[in-house]
Amino acid sequence: MAESHRHGHGHRHADMLSVEDAYERIMAYFSSLDVEEKPTLDALGQVLADDVVSPFYLPPLDNSAMDGYAILQSDIVGASPSSPKLLQVISQVAAGQMPTMDVVKGSAIRIMTGAPVPNGADTIVPFEETDEVERKGKGLGLSEIEIREELPRGANVRPAGEDVQKGEVILKKGTVLRPSEIGVLASLGMSQVRVIRRPVVAVLATGDELLHSRDPIEPGKIYDSNSYSIAASVIKYGGIPKMLGIARDNLEDMNQKLSLGTASDLLITSAGVSRGDYDVVKDVLMKRGEISFWSVRMRPAKPLAFGVIHGPEGKRIPHLGLPGNPVSTMVALEEFARPAILKMLGRAHLARPVIEAILEGPIYNFDERRVFARVEVTRKDGSYYANPTGPQGSNILTSMSRANGLAICPEDVPVMEAGQTVKVKMLNWNEEVQI
Ligand code: AMP
Ligand code: MG
Repeated sequence: MAESHRHGHGHRHADMLSVEDAYERIMAYFSSLDVEEKPTLDALGQVLADDVVSPFYLPPLDNSAMDGYAILQSDIVGASPSSPKLLQVISQVAAGQMPTMDVVKGSAIRIMTGAPVPNGADTIVPFEETDEVERKGKGLGLSEIEIREELPRGANVRPAGEDVQKGEVILKKGTVLRPSEIGVLASLGMSQVRVIRRPVVAVLATGDELLHSRDPIEPGKIYDSNSYSIAASVIKYGGIPKMLGIARDNLEDMNQKLSLGTASDLLITSAGVSRGDYDVVKDVLMKRGEISFWSVRMRPAKPLAFGVIHGPEGKRIPHLGLPGNPVSTMVALEEFARPAILKMLGRAHLARPVIEAILEGPIYNFDERRVFARVEVTRKDGSYYANPTGPQGSNILTSMSRANGLAICPEDVPVMEAGQTVKVKMLNWNEEVQI
């Protein structure tokens, strides 16, 4: 247990957990959740539970890539504008119809894009290589047609199975369903899909000073913002938040509110985890499960609690106790809750993209922790720039709101100056940075 109160020099970090150690300890409690079957569109962002095998060929039949005439290539050998080949037009076929006649020597069937190629035909001649427009202009009708170009056999025919073979694995188990995958599933006629279910994440704020957003403002009180930034993040990361409200700093209330969270996959609480403050949380949780209070070698979000709370039927629900300061809450959430949620969702890639950017203002590191500085990343002349978004106090949530990334100053670097290259963990890649 990393709870020692030593703070002397030389071993000032002896009682601190590295960010990596905290990450490893937490992640060990999570694995991919069970499978659910749901309407395909509702599964956007979820992970496929099985390989998807195509029950048929796509396209299902040879079909035309152009509006034109289905013909036998042997009928148009040597065709040119000066010596066109005349063919009898015996029928017509549109997309969605089946041809009713076969193409035989000397004949053609007028065909539209996507329509099945009639039996006998091996080539499609686009309208542009025929005299169709002139014929219509002269009021001649389309009972025959002149072909003005020799095309190779197979031209403009999209063969059956060109996209997808019958029996082929089209999407692999573990694939994250994006709009293109949702489309592929629909193209296979799959209205339902089996995916890893979304985790339910219970969210509980703690503190006597907190007001519900519906309450009138009172002296000495603040509105509970953490429940909202946590729940919003849970939605964004793909989980389902369950808002438990606010627990007051006493055993009874804490106990009662925690009971509401035992049907979830993860319980996230905020506040009450720093030294001198955690007695209530600790007392309650030691009776209902296990909890460790950590100091993590990072800024913000040094205090962190992690443990399990016992649920019904021997269930053990992981509990992440985030520090109360709003930015600490969000940074700890980013580092530890986001990957846990993604892991439960069955996702393979848990890390945010990290880019290199040129720092536009200094980052100070007073006490050898890993500093996550709120920055706004922009792109100018092909380079990324990271501009600190103002005061970096862990209570200043608006500077988080102006940020789209967290610049990382390593533990052993006391200051990073403007002009230096810095690694930035992007929080909203592609939403706010134009590449
Ligand atoms: P604590 O961890 O309880 O010492 O809280 C640290 C700081 O975070 C205090 O200034 C609290 O008022 C603030 N805080 C705690 N919970 C919340 C919350 N749910 N929303 C906004 N601020 C909070
Ligand atoms: Mg408190």
